[in-house]
Amino acid sequence: MIKTLPVHTSSLRLKDYMIYVKSLLSPRNKQVIGTEETWSQLIGDRQIIPTSTGRHALWEYLNLAGLQEGDEVLIAAYNFYAIVRILIQKSLIPVFVDIDLETLCINPEDLEKKITEKSRLVLVTHMFGNPADMGRIASISKRNNLLLFEDCAHAVGTHHKDIPIGQIGDGALFSFGIYKIINIFGGGMLALKGPNGVNSSFNKQKKTATGIKSFLDNFIRFIISLLMIPELYTIILYPMLKFFRRFIPSLYQLIEPSGNDPSYNFEVEGRAPFKPYMLRMIREQLAELDEKISRRRKIANEIKIGLKGLKDVIVLNEDKHGVSNYSYFGIYVPDPEALSGDLENRRIKSNPHEYYDCSQLPQFLEYQSNCEHASYASTHLLRLPNYPNLHDSEVERIILAVRSYFEKS
Ligand SMILES: *Cc1c(COP(=O)(O)O)cnc(C)c1O
Repeated sequence: MIKTLPVHTSSLRLKDYMIYVKSLLSPRNKQVIGTEETWSQLIGDRQIIPTSTGRHALWEYLNLAGLQEGDEVLIAAYNFYAIVRILIQKSLIPVFVDIDLETLCINPEDLEKKITEKSRLVLVTHMFGNPADMGRIASISKRNNLLLFEDCAHAVGTHHKDIPIGQIGDGALFSFGIYKIINIFGGGMLALKGPNGVNSSFNKQKKTATGIKSFLDNFIRFIISLLMIPELYTIILYPMLKFFRRFIPSLYQLIEPSGNDPSYNFEVEGRAPFKPYMLRMIREQLAELDEKISRRRKIANEIKIGLKGLKDVIVLNEDKHGVSNYSYFGIYVPDPEALSGDLENRRIKSNPHEYYDCSQLPQFLEYQSNCEHASYASTHLLRLPNYPNLHDSEVERIILAVRSYFEKS
């Protein structure tokens, strides 16, 4: 039986899973050790607030930042719809800015053009783990007296000028969800500029799910993460997905989230709190992070080299403003849907709609804007697998599959 390659797997080791399992077996052990070292390994001199998810970190930041109803937030149009929804739920106005096609991140020139009297905040996303042009963005923000917030959900391990990303803005969010480079079955954190120090008290977390709901929140994500191990994905999850899609759409959405859910609404109390086991899991995964990132980078590079000469394939320049962690990897092609379908027949998963041009989504019609490059990325970018435990022969399989699609067409 040919192995089905998922587009993403979290490459956790048995001992990573065991940290979680042990926490279930000894629920009274709530001891938290090494908090400060762990946070400071992730990010330097910042105040850290552990949160339920990355989204909660943004929510918390918006509470703290003192924005007023109707204030404008400048945000890249090619983005995660949930982030835009959160701004709107906070009565803020998203102002969509075009992206740089080479990095998928906000374009400083267009950013500057879109600043108005009402602008208060620039929200920069380090899309796919590619560092944004922080030098220029920070100086534009400063000159215009704007707050600067960094969405580092994809960017743990990404560097800007030798420092871990997330330390230039006034605040930054991090996510440790199941699709992110560090997966602890939920969890996120808010990193704030001074006063330096660690807010390690987990007890200060407010309004989270409790009891069975809190347990299930992480447990379901633990199970999904296990089932995304390629071997298990091949024999269990992949065959079941068609069934879920038809009969349990909410579960399907959790396993293979679509790039857009128009009915999405952020719920503050919907998710489990940041738990002590999560800190231990982060610590273990941090020890392997550099190695995993270099493998991701190597795979992406091999695919790029393998696709050289195909005139229909355009690659990104992920390291344009620093060093990307390649937590996602994509290529531009004329028809990503068709290629994705072809790859699926060869049991290689890919995603033609990882994100959308939010400035064109029907639910954000009110804030519509013309962002040529975001629209191009939305219709031409195809995400390919580059997870670190892909074997060399599987990387070759991906290259050959893409090549043969273009060579026959
Ligand atoms: C995943 C993600 C977030 C937030 O993550 P959660 O922990 O799932 O709330 C924010 N921004 C982007 C771009 C993301 O992909």
